[in-house]
Amino acid sequence: MNDAVVSPPPPGTEGGPRVLLEVFGCQMNKLDGELVAGALRKGGYDFTDADEQADVVLMVTCSIRDQAEHRVHSHLGELAKLKASRPDMVLGVLGCMASREGGDLLKRWPALDFVAGTRDFPSVSRLVDEVRADRTRIVAVDGDPRVSETRDLAVRPHKARAFITVARGCDKPCTYCVVPRTRGEEVSRSKRDILEEARALVDDGVREITLLGQTVNAWGRHEGSSLGELLYALQDLSGLDRVRFTTSHPEEMDEPLIDAMADCPKAGMFLHLPPQSGSSRMLRRMARGYTAERYREIVQQLRARIPGVELAGDIIVGFPGETDEDFELTAQLMRDVRFSQAFLFRYSPRPGTPAWGRLEDDVPDALKRERLATLMALQSSIQEARHTAMHGTRHQVLVEGRSRRDERRLFGRNLASDRIVFEGDPSLVDELVELEIVDSTPLTLVGRQLAAAASGSASRAASATSTSSAD
Ligand code: SF4
Repeated sequence: MNDAVVSPPPPGTEGGPRVLLEVFGCQMNKLDGELVAGALRKGGYDFTDADEQADVVLMVTCSIRDQAEHRVHSHLGELAKLKASRPDMVLGVLGCMASREGGDLLKRWPALDFVAGTRDFPSVSRLVDEVRADRTRIVAVDGDPRVSETRDLAVRPHKARAFITVARGCDKPCTYCVVPRTRGEEVSRSKRDILEEARALVDDGVREITLLGQTVNAWGRHEGSSLGELLYALQDLSGLDRVRFTTSHPEEMDEPLIDAMADCPKAGMFLHLPPQSGSSRMLRRMARGYTAERYREIVQQLRARIPGVELAGDIIVGFPGETDEDFELTAQLMRDVRFSQAFLFRYSPRPGTPAWGRLEDDVPDALKRERLATLMALQSSIQEARHTAMHGTRHQVLVEGRSRRDERRLFGRNLASDRIVFEGDPSLVDELVELEIVDSTPLTLVGRQLAAAASGSASRAASATSTSSAD
């Protein structure tokens, strides 16, 4: 979970009211931020990245964890003070918090003018107009589940990379999760819409597309389709080098999808497949719909069909009722699967989830912290060994930008989603380059540039690790 500010999108309507658009949370929120920016641009608004210059401040919010909501509330406190000296300023909360809390947010924050839920993005420009015209306060949380995904190509933040939402909402009953409440039922977009959007993006310079959905691998299941179909279609899209998709649900992994991953080198080297726990007892309490044994079976199938495929996993520690034995099963799963990346969380009860009020939060916080620290140390040792074993191997990366820690360095990702930093000319951003791994820490891989790679050359051979030495 990152925080980001769409800061600012390219100029909108010169002289139009200036909007500061802030995006909290996941990749889907970032894409929603782009859709909102496009709608505002069309509606005659301009953008700024400074509170004090903004006529309108909008936040696209996240509800998944307590901490994410705290951050928004504390920011609202600062904005309320600013608004006291500038009463014409418009404040709006969009997205998951708006869907979850609705009118309660307006009661809690008298300075807030409107809330708009996850299915009300297309109306944002009109809602801001109404607030500005009538100084009215608005709750809009009942939008159409088939949110229009019409995007404005000019507000894309990256030239060579783009997200496409392929499905919204979620029908799963996971007891710890608020998403089905904030984003509603699962709705897939049509294959035709998605491919048209992908074609337009590639024609506009995009080389890597990430397909987004809460359970992305459930795409099309109500219509008798499978995500594999999309992977095959995108594999054939000329000009496109890479396809990512996230986040997958173990219950939705099936042979056709694994076949498609095996057959589509643009797409198949990385899978974000959260197990959440290594204990089948805990998975039952979480209502995940699979057992730890089934999870292990999927991993085996993937690794047998796709040599070198890397897996990322999310894990929750301290879920209600988690014993030492359950926890040890999770640690063992991590030792066995050896995730290339792991996102580790302490359980915290969230209002609006099925577990709220039903499952007692009975693992003491100190024990949750201890378990989390144990898994973090374990993952760090797994990554350290993996990274060390990669020294001398070659990788084709798509360069994403400058390293935040060291301005002289650039960073990019290979097909297996490893982030690799290297010293290089900033003109390489958005290009494919070939690197050799020369150093590493548990968190970072350091590469040395070999040569610029040719476009359209995404292949397992180009991405696969090899021990052949450099030039
Ligand atoms: S699959 Fe479970 S964890 Fe993922 S969004 Fe749906 S309810 Fe939440």
